[in-house]
Amino acid sequence: MTEDYFHLASDLEQIKQQNLYRSRRLVSSPQGVVIEVDGQQVINFSSNDYLGLANHPNVIQSFQQAANQYGVGSGSAHLICGHSQSHHALEQELAEFTGRDRALLFSTGYMANLGVISALMGRGDHLYHDRLNHASLLDGGLLSGARFKRYKHNDIADLQQKITEKEGRALIVTDGVFSMDGDLAVLPELATLANDKNAWVMVDDAHGLGVLGETGAGVLQYYGLTQQQVPVLMGTLGKGFGTFGAFVAGSDDLIETLIQKAKTYVFTTALPAAIAEATRTSLKLLITENWRRDKLRQLVLRFKTGADQLGLQLMPSESAIQPIIIGDSKKTVEISEALLNKGFLVSAIRPPTVPKAEARLRITFSANHKEQHVDQLLDALAGVLDD
Ligand SMILES: *Cc1c(COP(=O)(O)O)cnc(C)c1O
Repeated sequence: MTEDYFHLASDLEQIKQQNLYRSRRLVSSPQGVVIEVDGQQVINFSSNDYLGLANHPNVIQSFQQAANQYGVGSGSAHLICGHSQSHHALEQELAEFTGRDRALLFSTGYMANLGVISALMGRGDHLYHDRLNHASLLDGGLLSGARFKRYKHNDIADLQQKITEKEGRALIVTDGVFSMDGDLAVLPELATLANDKNAWVMVDDAHGLGVLGETGAGVLQYYGLTQQQVPVLMGTLGKGFGTFGAFVAGSDDLIETLIQKAKTYVFTTALPAAIAEATRTSLKLLITENWRRDKLRQLVLRFKTGADQLGLQLMPSESAIQPIIIGDSKKTVEISEALLNKGFLVSAIRPPTVPKAEARLRITFSANHKEQHVDQLLDALAGVLDD
């Protein structure tokens, strides 16, 4: 057997040639608007900590107190001896927050999506995916064994044409806020179509929770859609909440079904209770501190206005995710590196995360940014995009 039996070295070389090679930067500070990466202080425009809660003192304090009470490890899965009072209380608070009967914690959003779709769907069922859905939703579909079709991004007419089967269950799955584009799913139309076609809708609101809606309850609150209209809501806790983990919220029967059948729930260790307590505190802050959402909106508006004046081509996004399409992967990486040299961390997003020839800078804002940070970023962008 040769050492390169799996062709790893040549595959890696090929990834490099295509300018799609990925590597990690070393962070040596807490998350925040200013972070230290590879020994350099930079202004951070690449985090999903939209509300600036990841390093909030109250959240840290709750984490520490709970670690003192429960220790670190949860010891087992929720169904064995890992389901603490803290997890239970957080589930009840998340249900109330999202206006749903119940909520169920998962260890990550990726696992929640795998678990829900494979618990609800099987052979003979039909899944309908927006073309730009997150990888975890697509993998959930593959795992389920259901047939699936991908409809053009936010294109109701295309979806309508594709929903033709009469047999089996039908589930329409969509991101709430598209993670690499920043625009919102056309959920009211999806819900109406689903109702007509006897299908269910599932929304992954990883980027809407905390950010959208009057109290931050996300894209469904923003549109005023109910549990009946959109039966399955998945949310993550590592983004707007600033902590870690995920949940699914919906009817009592949905949650009980997941407890029985979602393998990524049953066969995995529960989150640390300290994470649940930290999240309870961040949920309180997220609901009550409306200023974080207001500030975020103002910063985004300032950025969009400034970018417009500079003649930069933005995408139709009102959210905290503001991508600039560059197209070529190599050029995108070069621009991102030039920005880093000027002290700004902006991620270069390349295929397969985004479609081919749609490499982009993904700029994200946090409620903790100052207006002056936005202006500095605009200056830097003007400089590097001119070259
Ligand atoms: C981040 C993300 C996930 C995965 O959540 P994790 O908790 O990070 O595993 C799922 N869906 C979308 C749309 C995401 O952006």
